[in-house]
Amino acid sequence: MSLDDHAEELASSLGVDKTEVKGKLENLEQYGVPIDEAKETVRRNYSDSESTGGGEIATKSVADVSTADSRVDTTATVLSVGKRSIQYNGDQQVIFEGEVADQSGKISYTSWEDFDLQPGETVHLGNADVREWEGHPELNLGDSTSVERVEDDLDIEYEVGGDARLATLEPGDRGVNVEVQVLDVEEKQINGRDGETEILSGVLGDETGRLPFTDWEPRSELSAGTSVRIEDVFIREFRGVPSVNVSEFSTVEALETPVEVADSGTQYQIGDAIETGGMFDLEVTGNVVAVRDGSGLIERCPDCGRVIQSGQCRSHGAVDGEDDLRVKAILDDGTGTVTAILDEEITAEVYGGDLDDAREHAREEMDREVVADSIRDSIVGREFRVRGTLTVDDYGANLEATEFTTHSEDAKTRASRLLTEVEA
Ligand SMILES: [Zn+2]
Repeated sequence: MSLDDHAEELASSLGVDKTEVKGKLENLEQYGVPIDEAKETVRRNYSDSESTGGGEIATKSVADVSTADSRVDTTATVLSVGKRSIQYNGDQQVIFEGEVADQSGKISYTSWEDFDLQPGETVHLGNADVREWEGHPELNLGDSTSVERVEDDLDIEYEVGGDARLATLEPGDRGVNVEVQVLDVEEKQINGRDGETEILSGVLGDETGRLPFTDWEPRSELSAGTSVRIEDVFIREFRGVPSVNVSEFSTVEALETPVEVADSGTQYQIGDAIETGGMFDLEVTGNVVAVRDGSGLIERCPDCGRVIQSGQCRSHGAVDGEDDLRVKAILDDGTGTVTAILDEEITAEVYGGDLDDAREHAREEMDREVVADSIRDSIVGREFRVRGTLTVDDYGANLEATEFTTHSEDAKTRASRLLTEVEA
């Protein structure tokens, strides 16, 4: 059934105009809402407006706007305005996105019309559509919305303008400005909408952390080592970490003063680190409370690299597994837990032997689990400092370790450095 057919069916069952229903369905589809859910939402919209007396619109404060509302009137200060080009019904359309706030709170908005919104101004929004986005209400401003500038100075507790630090960014943020140092950048060819396109991809840093970025319109200003202010970026998730997207509408300005970037991974408490939603190159310290199954001498599928059990890959069936070493250690610091994932090299260090040693060990004991058991004995209950990249998803937080050291080793390194300084 086409969207048109769905609109036809729904409009006739509700006894309302089909064009309007179709417009609503299209908007929801744009947000990736499955058609059945979209129809249910539209149906609810119409029954809500009936029960509130034929579409009378409530005036609400921002915090009171809920996903049960279909439309609202509200007065709020514009915090940020991001501009973005999206694919809509096969056409390119420019939309404006950001946040508005009043005394009660803040809310995201998407504007399908150019109302020339400016950060800092206070506007009365009449007949704004309310949509649900990942469980939260969001305002949608379209051709039926009225935007009126008002003189009110609202007492809001948010900063106007969209400036943000890397550690506070989350997927879904838009209209954001960052001041960062470009740590790493490379040119890439991708297969985009319009065939082969060149993009830049790399890593940005500031005092709070490091995040990957993509520049969809390669700019020469974004070269390694330069410090820049980038205005109007949006944030998406990329491999579990928030990623900064620099678009055709973003502006890049070189900064005279270099942006400071902590050169070793920034220290975090585990709870705070998870709160960032994912971060490149950070450091946590905690106790190893357990070593999870799938650690020690493991087997991987030669085709996809997944860890396999009893010679069976979930995607490739029976395969000749390849041996590897890995540790999944649960680290706890009292504020939260992460699974630290140690690669072959680091695992060999904590095990005290390489892959051949592990195979030998397993052969002697006629049990592959002895490798994990030995690692368990040597690390569980001890405190480690772990540096690496943190990803967070529904299944938990993983820290892909680049360094895994005990505190006593740290002390040793410190002692030898002090000694060297004295000798010099
Ligand atoms: Zn496989």
